Amino acid sequence: MPVRLRDDLAALPAYVAGRTVPGAVKLASNEMPLPPLPAVLDAITRAAEAGNRYPDIAVTTLTARLAEHHGIDPARLAVGCGSVALCGQLVQSVCAPGDEVVFAWRSFEAYPIVALTGHAQAVRVPLTADHVHDLDAMADAITDRTRLVFVCNPNNPTGTAVDEDALRAFLARVPSDVLVVLDEAYREFVSDARVPDGLALAEEFDNICVLRTFSKAHRLAGLRVGYAVAPPELAAALRGVSVPFAVSSPAQAAALAALEHLDELLADCAGAVAEVERMTSELRTLGYEVPPSQTNFVWLPLGERATEFSEHALENKVVVRAFAGDGVRVSAGTSEEVDLFLAAAGSFPR
Ligand SMILES: *Cc1c(COP(=O)(O)O)cnc(C)c1O
Repeated sequence: MPVRLRDDLAALPAYVAGRTVPGAVKLASNEMPLPPLPAVLDAITRAAEAGNRYPDIAVTTLTARLAEHHGIDPARLAVGCGSVALCGQLVQSVCAPGDEVVFAWRSFEAYPIVALTGHAQAVRVPLTADHVHDLDAMADAITDRTRLVFVCNPNNPTGTAVDEDALRAFLARVPSDVLVVLDEAYREFVSDARVPDGLALAEEFDNICVLRTFSKAHRLAGLRVGYAVAPPELAAALRGVSVPFAVSSPAQAAALAALEHLDELLADCAGAVAEVERMTSELRTLGYEVPPSQTNFVWLPLGERATEFSEHALENKVVVRAFAGDGVRVSAGTSEEVDLFLAAAGSFPR
């Protein structure tokens, strides 16, 4: 007899990673096109030299540094193997089997996976026609079984953000014992001042957890490090349910070094934002619908033509991320890479 697996795993959606195609430009995973800074690479190398030793299980130095950076109590921090791991730890920390996790759809594709693997029920609330979180409908979707609501702000893959008024109106409707997770993976790319800083809101609301990552702006997607800022009891729970030694020594060292060079990294983020503005205006000129993005990527709601578009882009040596039947997400690369993509978008038959 074959080994018995969980019955519900058949319903587990696969996380579709952006493809890497030799000889093609990758604009599929919202990574920055630049490698880690030289000083960060040095820190990684030094940490790797002690690779025979286990990492600091408590991530002490990085936690202290992040606490100082954000002006918060280190007891409110949990560092994880990317913020995606923390998404799973959040479900494990607040959900009993059958509890509900509410999130917008389409949004970050990890949410349904962590809900299901955490034995919770995923409740998907459609985005508005403008590809923005429908916070009223999300508040309406909260039941007695709801323990956690993910608000991805700005949203992956649509790039859209909710403003402070809308988020506050939503928070006022969420019961105080239901956790609201503000996933701010793209915070460093936000240029609209109306988009709230989750960390400021977390000072006011005891049911907010903010997720940040070193994968995007800090250019460390391959090193795997992210963090949660949460009420102290929840932060302790997140650390408690973590896989031991989840954050490697090179990852801890890289994150620390990146924080030392934040100005330089943020200057390059501004470059990515400029590329997104260029992509948005040129694509609109070409006749594409492009929702306003507050991230380092754009969303093309191409519906049934999403796959065809991505195949056309690939023929033109550009890898984009298609969500079949829904749309295509394109990350800002270097100017040359964006030029290549825009040429492909221009030659797509419509
Ligand atoms: C990229 C991304 C993350 C970051 O994931 P890591 O595990 O930290 O690499 C988290 N949330 C969203 C919405 C993202 O797009």
